[in-house]
Amino acid sequence: MPEAPDLYVVRNFLEPRLVGRTISSAVERKPLVLRNMTGEKFDADISGRTITGLARKGKLLLISFGDERSLVISPMLTGGLRYCSPEDRMQATTILVFNLDDGAQLRYFDQKRMGQAYYLPNDQLDQIVRLENQGADVLDSPMDLDEFTAALKPFRGEIKGILTRGQAIAGIGNAYADEILFEAGLFPFKKKSKLSPAELKELHRAVYEVPKAAISVLEREVGENIHKKVRGFLKVHGKGGEPCPRCGTTISAIKANRRETNFCRSCQPGTMFD
Ligand SMILES: [Zn+2]
Repeated sequence: MPEAPDLYVVRNFLEPRLVGRTISSAVERKPLVLRNMTGEKFDADISGRTITGLARKGKLLLISFGDERSLVISPMLTGGLRYCSPEDRMQATTILVFNLDDGAQLRYFDQKRMGQAYYLPNDQLDQIVRLENQGADVLDSPMDLDEFTAALKPFRGEIKGILTRGQAIAGIGNAYADEILFEAGLFPFKKKSKLSPAELKELHRAVYEVPKAAISVLEREVGENIHKKVRGFLKVHGKGGEPCPRCGTTISAIKANRRETNFCRSCQPGTMFD
């Protein structure tokens, strides 16, 4: 679920609540998600450590414990965080539980265990490929059109795949890629090599406009419920079968590469064989 705008809101909510707090205890409720790279027992090692920073990089969240340890969370499609009281009902999907010294609880849940969490010494952070191998963040100050064109240059194939892979520009996932391509009027499966200068310009504009515009809606609708998936306001993503908000054509839904792509055939014309 979480892409840059979602995690931006989650981070801003959590930062004042987590930084300065000490972990009293931690529980790993289900295996296979946490990669503990410290060589120590997870709960024993993390207990007593104080959270000194919370950062977002693309679609990852980094919790720092001084200069020794970090917890990197990559929620992928189905993971998320919940900030609550220990008395709140424990969801079956909860993977990790952190008890904080002020009595609050932070939980990581994952419906399909597609996400990953890495608990590691800081000097091993460079081993996390997704952390190192990302382009400039989509919410950072925008690249100009020339820089953007240069950032896309090494990558081949369909434009949607290039946007979601994160190496050209970080933080865009399946949902916001659909929204960006709708805004730019581009067929999602169009080959990057076939984009005209005018189309690149539209893409550049949409890449920076769409995620930023989403933040204020998310801040309003998510509030304290950072585990909530807020997608209803999107224009085409998740709206297959509904009318296009621009022209009324039925929005298409195509399953490819294990994910659904939504777009409007009239506003985003193209064919698979272009
Ligand atoms: Zn349309």
